[in-house]
Amino acid sequence: MDHGTPSFNLADEVAVVTGGSQGIGAAIAIGLAKAGADVAVVARGSCESTVASIVAAGRLGVAVNADLSRPGAGESALEQVEQLLRIPSILINNAGIIRRAAFTDYSRQDWDDVMAVNLDAVFELSQVFARDCIAAGHRGRIVNIASLLSFQGGIRVVAYTAAKSAILGITRALANELAPQGINVNAIAPGYIATSNTAPLRADFARNAAILDRIPAGRWGEPEDLVGAAVFLSSSAASYVHGAVLPVDGGWLAR
Ligand code: NAP
Repeated sequence: MDHGTPSFNLADEVAVVTGGSQGIGAAIAIGLAKAGADVAVVARGSCESTVASIVAAGRLGVAVNADLSRPGAGESALEQVEQLLRIPSILINNAGIIRRAAFTDYSRQDWDDVMAVNLDAVFELSQVFARDCIAAGHRGRIVNIASLLSFQGGIRVVAYTAAKSAILGITRALANELAPQGINVNAIAPGYIATSNTAPLRADFARNAAILDRIPAGRWGEPEDLVGAAVFLSSSAASYVHGAVLPVDGGWLAR
């Protein structure tokens, strides 16, 4: 075993980033490319601008159009990645949605929609990804995007909290089963990051002030704040890290 200088270099890796059209997923996709990976981004909408930045970083970039809320969509997205690039060695399960309503008004449709993208798709994509890595005989890295609501209850977001709490469970369950196969499964828990997901919170003056007041770092996170953690957990520097969750939250959980 080589215990030389840890490497964060992702050359020769192929990464899949779900929800790479904007926000955290776009920043991570571009960050992985800058670290040397070829990257496929998956979303319903256009990933053109992310792919342009991946190519500008000197790597191969492809966009795969898929609605990951549909059963089977994850499997067919990974098939396309294999055809367009090669079998991926890094999977970033980032695609996610949030629906806000009081619990007593929360609709079954909103519950199902959130679960389908934030949890069911993670199960399906991770399973196909792991099978393909094992069949190809190469190592793999799965990084799930969790949340502060993997640890806390939240308000008006019951489905999101349930799904993100389950993300920690699936991260640990898969880490146990896949570590012997050379696949590391870990999670990142972003704090309050300025993306479309949190736009309603930032637009609410009182809520915005209350959130800012509780963040030790004193500012909202930017999508780029997640890149270091994603590159680390995707790299050989993290080869002995299994089933961990790394908060990137400006200190929120330490309060
Ligand atoms: P965002 O800007 O709204 O991006 C969400 C991404 O997910 C988009 O690329 C979106 O693309 C994709 N997506 C949504 N539904 C999809 C579907 N059915 N099929 C395929 N792709 C889908 O939000 P974000 O803040 O970057 O969120 C990224 C992840 O971080 C999510 O898992 C979120 O829960 C998590 N997170 C965010 C924060 C935060 O403060 N922002 C904090 C903790 C965790 P299309 O709409 O084009 O499909």
